[in-house]
Amino acid sequence: MSRILLRRTLFHGGTIWTGTSTTTDALSVRDGRIEALGAAALAGTHDDRVDLRGGMLLPAFGDGHCHPDHAGFEALGPQVRGLSTVAEIVEEVRRHADAHPGDGWIIGGGYDATIVPDGLFDARWLDEAVPDRPVALRAWDYHTLWCNSEAMRRAGLDASTPDTPRGRFARRPDGELLGTMMEWDAVDAVLAAAPDRTTEDLVTALAAATQAYAAAGVTWIQDAWVEHGTVEAYLEAARRGLLATRVNLAFRADPVRWREQLAEFAADCERVRTLGHDRLTARTVKFFIDGILENRTASLLAPYSDDPCTRGMPVWPYGELIEALTAVDAMGLQAHLHAIGDAGIRTALDAIEHVTRVNGPRDRRPVIAHVQVLAEEDLPRFARLGVIANLQPLWARTDPPMTKLTFPRIGPDRARRQYLIGSLLRSGVHVSFGSDWPVSDHRPLAGLPVAVTRENAEREPSGGWLPEERIGIEEALSAYTAGVAHQAFAEEERGTLAPGKVADLVWLDGDVRRLDPHDIAETTTVLGTWAAGVRTFLPANRSGV
Ligand SMILES: [Zn+2]
Repeated sequence: MSRILLRRTLFHGGTIWTGTSTTTDALSVRDGRIEALGAAALAGTHDDRVDLRGGMLLPAFGDGHCHPDHAGFEALGPQVRGLSTVAEIVEEVRRHADAHPGDGWIIGGGYDATIVPDGLFDARWLDEAVPDRPVALRAWDYHTLWCNSEAMRRAGLDASTPDTPRGRFARRPDGELLGTMMEWDAVDAVLAAAPDRTTEDLVTALAAATQAYAAAGVTWIQDAWVEHGTVEAYLEAARRGLLATRVNLAFRADPVRWREQLAEFAADCERVRTLGHDRLTARTVKFFIDGILENRTASLLAPYSDDPCTRGMPVWPYGELIEALTAVDAMGLQAHLHAIGDAGIRTALDAIEHVTRVNGPRDRRPVIAHVQVLAEEDLPRFARLGVIANLQPLWARTDPPMTKLTFPRIGPDRARRQYLIGSLLRSGVHVSFGSDWPVSDHRPLAGLPVAVTRENAEREPSGGWLPEERIGIEEALSAYTAGVAHQAFAEEERGTLAPGKVADLVWLDGDVRRLDPHDIAETTTVLGTWAAGVRTFLPANRSGV
């Protein structure tokens, strides 16, 4: 998988973008670090040479928010992502069941919730294909689950099962469960009946997911949802040399049992520290502040436009949130907060402000992830509080989830306050990019064009949706490189190319700054990825260094 560059290696023959708006034509690496740029790199003798063949070398990419275990598992289940009708999904589940006989659970993801009105999927549709064993499919948002009748039977769910403050069951007119579960308690009520994944399954999933990242030019990822049981799999994957990227773990804080979790967080951090593997860190805790707009669980300041009875579903009582966040911050851990609605984002900012006041100043670098609907008066608070805005550029376009689900839910005024990437950058905020994979494509090369054009796959609207929120290609590259390195507390080590920095590099077959941005995803190929000078990706059909 890797070749160690302990000797002096020269990269030349292409454009080397340093990440600081400058380019050079040569870079040398020694012992995993960048030794020199330009003429100083060319001088002297070299043990190895990498001819960039007219391509581009730049700091390796990072992903500031993703779920590699989910992505890895999705690859093992029925392949329902991207299918555009219920019939296709049901047929794929039937095919998977035939190919994997037995009576065990079939678990998959992530189906497109927009193909059925209101995202309400019926258990009976799955029963037609698989009546006698449980099937549970996550929607692409990972906040919603569609299951068959056998899954509900095994989970002991029926018409008498009540909704909870953090979970909603779609129902038929007579009160029977339909088969669509929304948010935590409802989704967990089904999945709790399924057998736990084994550590070995998890190791396989993590190896596959990090290899996919290495192939996309990525050397650092933020796993934004780590449960206690997953930590052993990460340790094992690191011990066996199966992590193809660096990973920072964010333990998920549970609003019900966070007090017990504090000791687990401390112990898990210690286990990771004791292992001392350079690809694995654990310094972050994840808080879900709200849900998502598509199923009306994101927290809004004013009611939903298409349902005046609701303003969303906050995950935490505010008093508990600030207590938990203050405790985690006092342990020296970084906060990573999922916040989508304008009220959710305001709550996240209020909580960070509170913690800063109570625990005093330190370099804490809190992250608010997604930042979808942002109230005007809250925008300046990001820079003031030193909050990193982590955004998923692929979401900043008028695709079907946006036009069919989000626009009707929030109405035109709030629709114009979404994913304000340009405004955040102009106000001096540290912006980092991520994918939320498997929610959306993990490849930075797929996200770059949308950040720059804000056009959808049909290249509409021409000139971009909210064109003032488009950003330049170098700004977009920086959000995937220096921005993510800042989020990782690693800007002294990575994110830009300079002598002494760690040699985390990606080699592309062309200079993406000079391409029509629409063409970047289709025409650009990753030819190599290096983490600390170790080659983590080599295309199968090419000769290497
Ligand atoms: Zn996520």
